[in-house]
Amino acid sequence: MAGSKIERRKAFLDGCGPETRAIHAPILDLAASRGHLNPSGLGEARASSALGSVGQSSVGFDSLGDYEAADAAGRAPYGGAEYGVVLSPEAEAVCAKFARLHGGAGAVVCASGLAAIATVLDAFAPRAVLIPDGLYFPAWRYLSETGRAELLTYPAGASGEEVAALIREAGTRVAPAETMLYLEAPASGTFEIPDIAGLVAAARAAGIRTVMDNTWGSHVRFRPLDHGIALAVQATTKYEGGYGDTPSGIVVARDEADLARLRRQLRISGNGAVSPQTCTRLLHRVDSAEHRLDRHAATAAKLMGWFEDRPFTADILSPVRAASPYHARFRQYFGAGNSLFTVVFDEGVPVERVQAFVDALLLFRVAESWGGHVSLVLPVHPRRDPAMRQGGAMFRFNAGLEEAGDLIADLEQAARAAFLENLA
Ligand SMILES: *Cc1c(COP(=O)(O)O)cnc(C)c1O
Repeated sequence: MAGSKIERRKAFLDGCGPETRAIHAPILDLAASRGHLNPSGLGEARASSALGSVGQSSVGFDSLGDYEAADAAGRAPYGGAEYGVVLSPEAEAVCAKFARLHGGAGAVVCASGLAAIATVLDAFAPRAVLIPDGLYFPAWRYLSETGRAELLTYPAGASGEEVAALIREAGTRVAPAETMLYLEAPASGTFEIPDIAGLVAAARAAGIRTVMDNTWGSHVRFRPLDHGIALAVQATTKYEGGYGDTPSGIVVARDEADLARLRRQLRISGNGAVSPQTCTRLLHRVDSAEHRLDRHAATAAKLMGWFEDRPFTADILSPVRAASPYHARFRQYFGAGNSLFTVVFDEGVPVERVQAFVDALLLFRVAESWGGHVSLVLPVHPRRDPAMRQGGAMFRFNAGLEEAGDLIADLEQAARAAFLENLA
């Protein structure tokens, strides 16, 4: 392959459509942007809100009486809390918006999706947590490292009966009030979907609190509270911000009592200190989440279609596909897809060839996270136990907002470079 990767990318972009160029032209050279995929800001939230508190810590009051009233209520007359670190007016606006989108009593916003998960676990401090075996790895690590709760693992595609049996087992040691059922669906690398209604019914019968990591579906595809789940978590780092520049997470509570516990936990931990700029972006961008998700899903479908016809593809993991064992549950609960799918490469293809293919891609960046405007690719480690991995190499793709034809042209040129040149 002639030229540096930057030169090849530049030449490739010359043949791309305007939407693809708008996304990629500012980030030709990742070293120059220090790895940032959106250095100059794209999307609707470029302009900041006029009422911005711009990251204040101290909030001023005209009198001691005003201050004391605000301190007692935990609220300033200007919006936000009596102390700007605890809750800015922008954060409060974001919380109100997400509470509305989910039909909940209220919400809290945290500085990352993981901080939102940690806030739930800390606020309710369960002594036993039932988790899916495909659990988002950092959440599993948090549970493991803090070591406060006994972990009972159920299959990510479990039935209600399987989880009911596990709840009975937990019940022999821990009271229901101290037990939590944790759902995440579809699983973020391999996309299993459990019988959500069955799981929730089992938890309700046992009097166990439920929480769901709803990052995959966002409120656009699934509203956990409508399905009897008490707490919905979303890594708003992903689809709601949409341009890779809103590190944040949200927890929506169905009832006031749970909301009060979450708010109190943030006072204790300080994990609710989210930059007002991030909150402002989120507030505006969330309005276009549905539109973007539809476009992500349409592009992902086209990319999956391309992979289906390749001799090096052994399988494509996505509940959107009729061939998926989770397709019926996908239709029941989510109805439409998102940007993600995982390609299982044929076992007969040497892993170095697959790696060469990934490295030859010019529009797809190698990067963690997903849900943003730039197409991404990352190796999948679906289970912490390597012995449980499937045969061939697995890579998860995030279909970005570029023009689908350009992304397919990129896949074509990378496949030629990695697979055909080498056969010659
Ligand atoms: C990304 C992600 C998170 C955590 O979000 P961060 O903002 O990166 O901490 C949580 N759950 C799922 C399913 C995710 O994909």
